[in-house]
Amino acid sequence: MLRDTGKVMSSLPLVFEPPRRGQVPPRHLADLTADQRRAAVAELGEKAFRAGQLSQHYFGRLTADVHAMTDIPPRARAHLAGALLPRLLTAVRTVSCDDGSTGKTLWRAHDGTLLESVVMLYPDRATACVSSQAGCGMACPFCATGQGGLRRNLSTAEIVEQVRAAAAAARDGMLGRPARLSNVVFMGMGEPLANYRRVIAAVRRICDPVPRGFGISQRSVTVSTVGLVPAMRKLAGEGLAVTLAVSLHAPDDELRDELVPVNTRWKIAEVLAAARHHAGQTGRRVSVEYALIRDVNDQPWRADLLGKLLHRELGPLVHVNVIPLNPTPGSRWDAAPKPVEREFVSRVNAAGVPCTVRDTRGREIAAACGQLAATATANPPTRTPPAPRPARHLSAPPAREVSEFRDHGNRFRGPRRARGSGR
Ligand code: SF4
Repeated sequence: MLRDTGKVMSSLPLVFEPPRRGQVPPRHLADLTADQRRAAVAELGEKAFRAGQLSQHYFGRLTADVHAMTDIPPRARAHLAGALLPRLLTAVRTVSCDDGSTGKTLWRAHDGTLLESVVMLYPDRATACVSSQAGCGMACPFCATGQGGLRRNLSTAEIVEQVRAAAAAARDGMLGRPARLSNVVFMGMGEPLANYRRVIAAVRRICDPVPRGFGISQRSVTVSTVGLVPAMRKLAGEGLAVTLAVSLHAPDDELRDELVPVNTRWKIAEVLAAARHHAGQTGRRVSVEYALIRDVNDQPWRADLLGKLLHRELGPLVHVNVIPLNPTPGSRWDAAPKPVEREFVSRVNAAGVPCTVRDTRGREIAAACGQLAATATANPPTRTPPAPRPARHLSAPPAREVSEFRDHGNRFRGPRRARGSGR
C-alpha cells in the first residue's frame, strides 16, 4: 500500500511525439504572424489591410463573429472569415464555482478531441489556465491525463482560442464583474514544452500588442514543465520574460523517478540547473510546484532537503508553491494532514526559500501541469450530466457541477502497486 511503501510506479512509456493520425486543425488567423496574415489575405485576393482589421476584431475586440465585423464589406467578411476564422473549439459544457468567480469550459475540437480551460477572477487579476496538448505523454502516475496517454498536440490557434474565450468571458462580466484578462498560465492538460513550437507561438500571440496579439504582459504568463531540460534551455533563449513553473513534487531522484517519470531522463540536478539558467536569462523567479501527498513526499526530511537544494541551486530566484492534494474518494492518494503541511512549509521557509500553500482555487485549477481538473474530478459523477450549455451560461450551474465536468482530463488516481519489495 502506498502509505506503507511511499513507492509508486508508472508502467507507461514516456511519449514525446504524438501518434500520426487524424486531421490537423484548419488554419486560423491566430496560427499566423502579422506578416503571414497579410500574405494569407492577399492570397485570398483581398486587400492586405484587411488582415489588420481581422486582427483588430479578433485580438482587440475578442470576437471571431464575422457578423460583428461591420467595417469589412459583407462579401469580404464571409470570404475572410471562412478562410481564416474557422471555428476551432466548441464549448460542450461550462461550469462555475467559487461563487461564480471561477469558470471552467470543456471544449470539443474539430476532430472531437476534448480539452478544457479555466478562467479565474481574483481581486487584483483575472487568470486563464489553458491546455497545450490533448492528453499527455509524460505518464505521471497520479494524473489521469498522463495515464490516458498523448492524443495530439494542440495547434497554436487552439491554444490562443482558449485565451480569447477566457478574455471575452472576463470582459463580459461572466465571472461576477467585468475584468480584463491579465494573466495566462499553461497549467492545463499536457506538457507545454513537449509542444514547444506551438506553445511559444501562442505565447507570442498572447503577449504581442494589439492587433498582433492580446497585449498581455510577458511577466504575466507562466509556462509549466515537468522538466524537459533541452526545451527549458531553449525557452530561456527566446527573449520571453515569462515565468517558468517547474513541477518538482520530490527533492530526491529516487522518488521523483516514480512520481514524475521524465525524471528518469533528466535528473533533478539537471532540471534545477536549467531552471537557474532560465532565471539568469530572464530575471524571473522560478516557481517550483510541489503537490503534497500524504506519506509519499510530505516527510520533514524531504522538506529540509527541498529547502536546502533550492536555496543552493536557485538562491533568491525561487518560490515554492505547495499544492494540497485534493483527495479523491476511493483513491489511496491523500492530502497531507494540515499539521504536516504547515511543518513542511515552515521547514522550507526556514531554509531561506519562500514557500506558500496555494489557496483553494489555485489548488483547483492552477496547480502544477496536468492538475487542471484534479478537483473537478475528485468526485466522480453520480448522475447523468445535464445537456451541454453555451458559454454564456458560465455562472449558471451550481458549484457541485464542477465535479461532473469531465472524464477525459487530469485527476489524481489511485496509485499502482509498487513493483518489487517496496518500502
Ligand atoms: S502531471 Fe502534467 S506532465 Fe504529468 S502526466 Fe499529467 S499533464 Fe502530463
